[in-house]
Amino acid sequence: MHELAITQSVVDAVCETAAGRTVHSVRVQVGALTAVVADSMQFCFELVTEGTVAHGARLDIDHTPGGAHCRECGDDFVLSDLVLLCPCGSADVEVTSGRELRILSMEVS
Ligand SMILES: [Zn+2]
Repeated sequence: MHELAITQSVVDAVCETAAGRTVHSVRVQVGALTAVVADSMQFCFELVTEGTVAHGARLDIDHTPGGAHCRECGDDFVLSDLVLLCPCGSADVEVTSGRELRILSMEVS
């Protein structure tokens, strides 16, 4: 379950940044190409925050769609999965978005 490892590193970073303060909410940006399932991440977040300063915090997930640019036809298109193929049939594509996984903001007190 790859969400568990990812969520663990998010929570580690959050707890470190919080430096002992209580975390109320965390907003993360998750690109479509990371293959992270939001529901699983929510579930893992509850597990992983157990016993930490982020226990009971709300997790908000912002999804970024995958995007790519085709070097063959010059088109920019939406990538919905990991198949790196332009609608024109070319595989000479460059991923421009969708691989991000970062903490956008957090609320502490
Ligand atoms: Zn193309």
